[in-house]
Amino acid sequence: MECDCHSYEDIELYRESIDKRIRKTGHIKTHLEQLAVFPDRSCTLWKCPVCGQLWQSSHAWKWGEREYFYKVPAITVAEWLDDHFVKPDELLNYGSLLAHISFVEIDQKCRKCGRNAIEYSVFCKKHHLESMQKTHAFPEFPKGRIFDFHQHYDEGESEN
Ligand SMILES: [Zn+2]
Ligand SMILES: [Zn+2]
Repeated sequence: MECDCHSYEDIELYRESIDKRIRKTGHIKTHLEQLAVFPDRSCTLWKCPVCGQLWQSSHAWKWGEREYFYKVPAITVAEWLDDHFVKPDELLNYGSLLAHISFVEIDQKCRKCGRNAIEYSVFCKKHHLESMQKTHAFPEFPKGRIFDFHQHYDEGESEN
């Protein structure tokens, strides 16, 4: 028995990548076995019985809630039930919202840390975002484990 998992690339954070994957989802799904449903029912975990590749499936909100599948790294069901992988479409949407905010640094210090504040704010980029998230003026960073997307959204949320 053979599978065609290898013929699918890792999902990329571009609209086209998600468009394409939604179209292939019916086919991908036919050869996978469902391992688990996340408690909030927002996503599911699947495994290929042939090669063992794990896949996560969720519904892309901006695409009319259509389901799509993407490969995810190895994880136990228990670990996954504790925290699923981040949903690529949510990360993509977050990144495009972020891209619409101007983060021009000015010659003033952030009220919370030593970094430069940004235009129209008393805070630096990080703390400005945090304050907007507190008042729900900006969405929270998407929930879930990050896997291999780091290079695409390094603007904004970071650990430093
Ligand atoms: Zn496979
Ligand atoms: Zn700051």
